[in-house]
Amino acid sequence: MMKAWEKNIRKVVPYVPGEQPNKERMIKLNTNENPYPPAPGVAEALKNLDPDRLRLYPDPACTRLVDAIAKQKGLKPEQIFVGVGSDDVLAMCFMTFFNSEKPILFPDITYSFYDVWAEEFRIPYETQPLDDDFNIRKEDYYKENGGVIFPNPNAPTGVEASQEMIEDILQHNQDVIVIIDEAYVDFGARTAQPLLEKYDNLIVVQTFSKSRSMAGMRIGYAMASPELIKYLNDVKYSFNSYTMDQTALDLGVASIEDQAYFEETLHKIIQTRERVKLRLTELGFTFRDSRSNFIFASHKSCPAEELFEKLKEKDIYVRYFNKPRIHNYLRITIGTDAEMDEFLSEVENYLKESG
Ligand code: PMP
Repeated sequence: MMKAWEKNIRKVVPYVPGEQPNKERMIKLNTNENPYPPAPGVAEALKNLDPDRLRLYPDPACTRLVDAIAKQKGLKPEQIFVGVGSDDVLAMCFMTFFNSEKPILFPDITYSFYDVWAEEFRIPYETQPLDDDFNIRKEDYYKENGGVIFPNPNAPTGVEASQEMIEDILQHNQDVIVIIDEAYVDFGARTAQPLLEKYDNLIVVQTFSKSRSMAGMRIGYAMASPELIKYLNDVKYSFNSYTMDQTALDLGVASIEDQAYFEETLHKIIQTRERVKLRLTELGFTFRDSRSNFIFASHKSCPAEELFEKLKEKDIYVRYFNKPRIHNYLRITIGTDAEMDEFLSEVENYLKESG
């Protein structure tokens, strides 16, 4: 029987994250984490953490981390907003900027948190179909709307939208906020950051989770005009003024200060990705060019769900989405060379067995 108070409960369909199994021996290629450890400076900073610091609230303005990111990006500190992972930053952006009666627009195949936030914050939205090759069709974003958001490269497809396309979309959307979610941009795509000089309605969001191997620390940031960053800070201070903890602030600074290590791991992951692409092609898989740390692949004689389950039996985790148009694809995060060799050899075995 329905309880009287139940009618006052906000019921939402939650975001379903990839599995986080906790096995001693597993190959985890399902949530786009980085297989390499964070920069050595992060381990050093962790060792040197003074527990007495934990007695005090952290700096709500996150000044040291904001300054370090601004310096590295060649922007002013007033142009940076940090949060607890880019999920937190994006949710703040939804709350702050998407308050129109008109629907916000995003692709039909994209990061599955967007519709969750829209529902949660009661923001009307309309998804726009990708074309047959999983490209965004820019004309779909020229209609009247309450804001635009998409990842670049897109997730889970890995497909990059060109700078020209992004600029065309910005040209047609000067009266609303346009957010480019660049969670995967460091793996060989072009950032929209230079467009910030020209468009004061643009927000570029990036994260430490993927390219900086810091998913466990939850650090993300937005880059935008000082005016937009101020609006974000006002909302943050009214909702969750102390969300970034002291440890995240300290370790984030240590990570951003080691650019050489960052570039070295990116290079390794991109090299591995290109090698895996070649082998998957030989094995009969098809995929679009990926500019991210994952490959979104399908095989015409190999049902994705079955392969997903077979790999899982071997403790190899990839991501399967039971969704229209992409139910025959697997998203495979790029791990170390050894992990990818094991993955490829299991795929090969499966293909041989299934004839
Ligand atoms: N955007 C996209 C497209 C993602 O795939 C993810 C990772 N799940 C995020 C944002 C959020 O990443 P994080 O909160 O770890 O920064």
